[in-house]
Parts: sequence; structure tokens; C-alpha cells
Amino acid sequence: MNKQSPTERIKNFKEVAFGLSEEEALKEASRCLFCKKAKCSMNCPVEIDIPAFINALKKKEFDRAIKVIKEKNNLPGVCGRVCPQENQCEGACVLNAKKAPINIGGLERFAADYELKSKPSAPSPKPLTAKQIKIAIIGSGPAGLTCAGDLARMGYQVTVFEALHIAGGVLMYGIPEFRLPKEIVKKEVEYLASLGVKIKTNFIVGKTSLLKDIFEQGYKAVFAGTGAGLPSFMNIPGENLNRVYSSNELLTRVNLMKAYLFPEYDTPINVGKKVAVIGGGNTAMDSARVSLRLGAEKVYIVYRRTENEMPARKEERENAKEEGIEFHILTLPKKISGDDKGFVNSMECIKMELGEPDDSGRRRPVAIKGSEFTMDVDTVIIAVGQSPNPVFLKATPELKLDKWDKIIIDPATQATNIKGVYAGGDATEGDDTVIAAMGAGKRAAKAMHKYLENEK
Ligand SMILES: Cc1cc2nc3c(=O)[nH]c(=O)nc-3n(C[C@H](O)[C@H](O)[C@H](O)COP(=O)(O)OP(=O)(O)OC[C@H]3O[C@@H](n4cnc5c(N)ncnc54)[C@H](O)[C@@H]3O)c2cc1C
Repeated sequence: MNKQSPTERIKNFKEVAFGLSEEEALKEASRCLFCKKAKCSMNCPVEIDIPAFINALKKKEFDRAIKVIKEKNNLPGVCGRVCPQENQCEGACVLNAKKAPINIGGLERFAADYELKSKPSAPSPKPLTAKQIKIAIIGSGPAGLTCAGDLARMGYQVTVFEALHIAGGVLMYGIPEFRLPKEIVKKEVEYLASLGVKIKTNFIVGKTSLLKDIFEQGYKAVFAGTGAGLPSFMNIPGENLNRVYSSNELLTRVNLMKAYLFPEYDTPINVGKKVAVIGGGNTAMDSARVSLRLGAEKVYIVYRRTENEMPARKEERENAKEEGIEFHILTLPKKISGDDKGFVNSMECIKMELGEPDDSGRRRPVAIKGSEFTMDVDTVIIAVGQSPNPVFLKATPELKLDKWDKIIIDPATQATNIKGVYAGGDATEGDDTVIAAMGAGKRAAKAMHKYLENEK
């Protein structure tokens, strides 16, 4: 897929990848073998009929293509851009054995962008039977939005309660504009609203209202898609110095407070010239690439394992390297030091080697004695994981959590221990993916419908 050149794109926040042209999309669609037992669809957590939509594209029936996708996925513009297709649909494509798999993500994005550019969204499907039953969804990330959309299509009266002033969850406040334009997210949220989903922003369940108040207001079932936005730290000396950020703080300020438009928007972030980002996930790559665009001259990714173990998408690692970000792998920070005004001026690290596999199946990094060294940096961004958002959980002590504060659910139905309360997405899995969160939202919607039918 064509992209902005690295030298150009590090000076702006515009989308990096341009998307496929019509000619490219048709050519790519014509490579598909249209397998009868399509492994790509089986490997899609929301079960899109991938051969059917690619076949429609091949025949230039673009309206039909997007209709097929939207039967299962209300956020195709988002998924076409950020899904880890290499581990899912594209990873399962039989063409991997010959040469390259079909660029399914690129084709999905093409169909979604065609619809957004050429005309307003396809007319929303009317619910099969309108029901006078109210359902509450807590959180408007991909899990909550998907659950809401599916239930609205079944005819339920669905209201999403969102703590922030804007809907979309991480799609809006985490993933940067140059990977996922906010206009795309807004349009896809509008599509959900057109299905009848009501969205109440600035509404924190656990503060504005409690779970019991929601049931008292006549809601018959609840889905909690409250996400995992509580940053983890490393607990090393120096983490409270000036210019040490959590990735969450950095990215939220950039996205929601439009810090990338300073001075037009007066929300500057004091990012220095030499930045170390600690971590190897998508959040770390995003923080590194944002720092570059905010004016940093040197940006380093510091990761304690090797690149093979990095959770970040391959495409984003490649983009980061193309932009000049240096990877310090097998490196563990031990201490951040500062000057007499309390600003970061260096970071002490130690080199690591890989030992035996740990509980996650990845080889455990082990420190190499005497390999300490100092990195000359003036900013440190910590992107080592996030845990579940705590407000709803603390206000609902009857909800069962595991030792990491993730909501315990039945994985077949997403049901929690509280009758009528379901949960999914990062709130139950920790840091995961957009499509996994959507899959959980879908499973919950089906189970909630069954539950409500039985309750009648
Ligand atoms: C920087 C970054 C980059 C990422 N990049 C990718 C990527 O490229 N590909 C990918 O697949 N995944 C990526 N992910 C992971 C992905 O975004 C998440 O797995 C996904 O958003 C989880 O969806 P969710 O609906 O469970 O939660 P979220 O998206 O976190 O949404 C939860 C929502 O609930 C709201 N909320 C929380 N508590 C309450 C409350 N008490 N009352 C009301 N509302 C509440 C929050 O404000 C939020 O809007 C990335 C994550 C981050 C942070």
C-alpha cells in the first residue's frame, strides 16, 4: 500500500498509508481463490464472509461488498486500518504457502472508504422486531459499540454510557490520527447511532450513577466494556521526574486535547529532543512515532526481549524503523536520573539475554551481569502495559475480579457473576486487540438476547 514518505510524514499527523486505489483493489481481489472452506473467515473473530465481500469487489459491486462486511462488522474503516490481519484472516490465507496472502485489510479499508467517500452510509437495516426492552452498555470502545450495534439490530432500546466527552474509547483517545483518522471513527460511531443506539457521554458509571441505579431505571441487562486504560509503571527510581510520561497520558493529550496542533490548540506537551520509549507493543510504537512528530530528534524503543517477542504489529514496527526510530532490544531500564531542576537527563539500563520460557510462553529475559550502560535521554515514556479502568469495578464490589482486576466471565457467553451483567474487551482480557474486543461484544449480544428471551 502506498504511504507518505518517512521524511515527509514525520513532520505531520496526517494518515501514513494512503489505501488502495480502485485499480489496485480490483487487481488484489482478482487474486483471491474464493476457497469454499474459507480459513480467513474462520480466523476472523467477527466472522466476516471474506470471500463474499472480495467477490463483490472483484465484480465492482462496491455497495454489495460493504453490505456483506457490515452484516458482521459495524467498524470496517477502523478494522481495515488497525486489525492485526497478519495473525488472523491474512495469516490463515492459503496463498501464504505460495507467495503473499490477499491484502484483506487493505480491501476492507477500500470498501469502507468507498462508502464514506461516495455517499452517506448505506441505509441502516431496520431492526427485525422493535422491543420495548432497555439495555445499558458501559463504555463506547469497540467492545461496547459492537455489542450495542448487534442488540439494536435485534430491536432492543440500547443506551451507551461513556465516561469521556467523546465516543470511541482507545480508537479515539489512544491510537494516533496518523494511523486512524478520528473522522473515520466519528463516521462509524454515527452509523451506530443511525441503528438506533443512544450514546450518553460524560457519564461515569460508578460515579454519575451506580449499576443498581441503572437496573432501577428499567434497564434489563448491562454490558461492561470499560477497557484497560490504567497505566502500569516499572517501579524504578526516577519515574516521578519531569518529562517522564505514561504512554496513556501522552497519547490522550495528543489525541483528545489536540496537542499536535499547538499553538492553535493550547495544550502543549513538553517532549524533549532525545526520547526513550519503554515497551514493545502498539502503544510503544505509537508513543515513539508521536514523539518524533512533536519534534524529538532521536527516539529509542527500549525493550527487554527481542523483536520476535514484540507484541506490536509488524507493519507498525516497520513504519517506526523507516521513520528513524532506533530499537534497543534486550535492554532493561534500571533507573531514570534527573538534573537539579528535576528534569530527566539520562537513563541507566542493563543488557539482557533470553532464558527459559515463562508463563506467557515467551523466553524470559535474564540480566547479563556487568552490562550496565547509560542512555543520554531527556524524556522517558513508559508503555509497559495497562490494567482495567477501576472506577466501575471499585463502585461494584459484588462483581468478581481476578488477581489482575480483570472482570471474570464465562468465555462462552461473556456473563459475569451478576445476573444480567455481561462484560468483554480489555476489561476482561487486559490489553488486547480491537477485533478481539468486538468479538466479545458480539458473543455477549447473542447471550444477552438469549437471557432476555428466557426472562420473559
Ligand atoms: C495506543 C494504543 C494503540 C493500539 N493499537 C492497536 C492496533 O493497532 N490494533 C489493535 O487491534 N488494537 C490496538 N490497541 C488495543 C485496542 O485499542 C484495545 O484492545 C481496544 O480498544 C479495547 O476495546 P474496549 O472496548 O474493550 O475498551 P476501550 O477501547 O478502552 O474502551 C473503553 C471505554 O470505556 C469507557 N469507560 C471506562 N470506564 C467507564 C465508566 N465507569 N463509565 C463509563 N465509561 C467508562 C472509557 O472511557 C472508554 O471509552 C491499541 C491500544 C492502545 C492503547
